Amino acid sequence: MLLQEVHDIICSCQKCPLWQGRTNAVPGEGPVDAQIMFVGEGPGEQEDLQGRPFVGPAGQLLDELLRHVGFRREQVFITNLVKCRPPGNRTPLPAEVDACHPYLVAQIATVKPLLLVPLGGPALQKLIDPKLSISQVHGRVLERRGLRSLPLYHPAAALHRGNLRQTLFEDMLALRRAMQAQPGPGTATPSDQAPLLP
Ligand code: URA
Ligand code: SF4
Repeated sequence: MLLQEVHDIICSCQKCPLWQGRTNAVPGEGPVDAQIMFVGEGPGEQEDLQGRPFVGPAGQLLDELLRHVGFRREQVFITNLVKCRPPGNRTPLPAEVDACHPYLVAQIATVKPLLLVPLGGPALQKLIDPKLSISQVHGRVLERRGLRSLPLYHPAAALHRGNLRQTLFEDMLALRRAMQAQPGPGTATPSDQAPLLP
């Protein structure tokens, strides 16, 4: 399916109650051939107002992190677990994440990023493994469910916990190294879980 078709469907979606509070749905953005896909939690206030992902304070930190390793925002794909803003920026409920998940799966299947970057625990647990915590695996390359990923702390967490800021900048260096060292053919991973994509 074309990315634009998925995004059009998202913008009129009413599959979970979050649609009722939205100003704009936030499908996500980036080139269809992006090599890296960042997945946050859900739109915040600014994102809801503008219909674009990571344009508020957490987004400014994400922009800084990208610049730190020489990436431009326009090169990467940025989206969220849920495409409509949870009230008061609460963590999306499992039912909301599940309802919205087919859109994220369609985005991943279309863009086919070389590296998936879950930002924070909820994205890590939904996309990679519900048993992992971000404090255990941040900054490390994981190969699971047919996906190569490098989880990071959520930038919003670093706005409140200053020590995480340094960790995020360090983990971005690991991300750049991971992009320089792409696996060759035949390095498909043993999978301990069902593949995310068919
Ligand atoms: N936090 C998120 O998880 N996503 C956004 O798009 C903005 C803030
Ligand atoms: Fe639809 Fe996702 Fe918005 Fe829920 S959060 S209404 S599933 S687009």
